[in-house]
Amino acid sequence: MTDKLWMQDSYLKEWGAKIERVEQGKYVVLDKTAFYPEKGGQPSDFGRIICSGVEFKVVYGKDLGKDVSHEIEEPGLKEGDGVHCIIDWERRYRLMQMHTAAHLLHHVIFKESGALITGNQLGLEQSRMDFNVVDFNRELLTGFADKANELIGKELEISVSFLPREEAMKIPDILRLKDKLPKAIDIFRVVDIGGVDVTADGGTHVRNTGEMGKIKITGLKNKGANNRRVYFTLE
Ligand SMILES: [Zn+2]
Repeated sequence: MTDKLWMQDSYLKEWGAKIERVEQGKYVVLDKTAFYPEKGGQPSDFGRIICSGVEFKVVYGKDLGKDVSHEIEEPGLKEGDGVHCIIDWERRYRLMQMHTAAHLLHHVIFKESGALITGNQLGLEQSRMDFNVVDFNRELLTGFADKANELIGKELEISVSFLPREEAMKIPDILRLKDKLPKAIDIFRVVDIGGVDVTADGGTHVRNTGEMGKIKITGLKNKGANNRRVYFTLE
């Protein structure tokens, strides 16, 4: 079982680990990892695994539930090896900024319009969220972004805590997602952005909204009868 270090500390960039197993020569499971696997709309981390001075490029991370599998470019690692791991930090940090921005923009859009999010994909250049609505336009969205940017400008602290299901369900935004949250989870990881947006989330976030720049709406697409895709970036 992989100890998922990013859950406790999103700023961990390097760590030592042991290889638990290797499948088909290039899918590596570590005893602990801070490499975030592709999950919940946040792309996989990239980075390096170093073993006895030899570097192996990590090109993809897959969530296997209890474990995380890391795809390496070239084979050569084996079970029992002690390794040193390093995240491609520039990429990850950008995705952290985008993730926190997505939460704040989503918070404002839901509060102002009641629109429900149906999908999301974070990216380095731009990110997107889908909403179950018919009447979004650029002007409206720019207004939502302005409101989210006001929150960002308040330099809100972001905290992560772990709450038993019963406690977590007292938080309205988490209760609202009740039917979507996995039944098997007893302990919820709760991400709290300055008391403004509090939700159950497994992703990586910045520590303070002062670290992320401002949200800019970059596009709006009609993706079907009740689906509007909103694109944004940070600058
Ligand atoms: Zn999230």
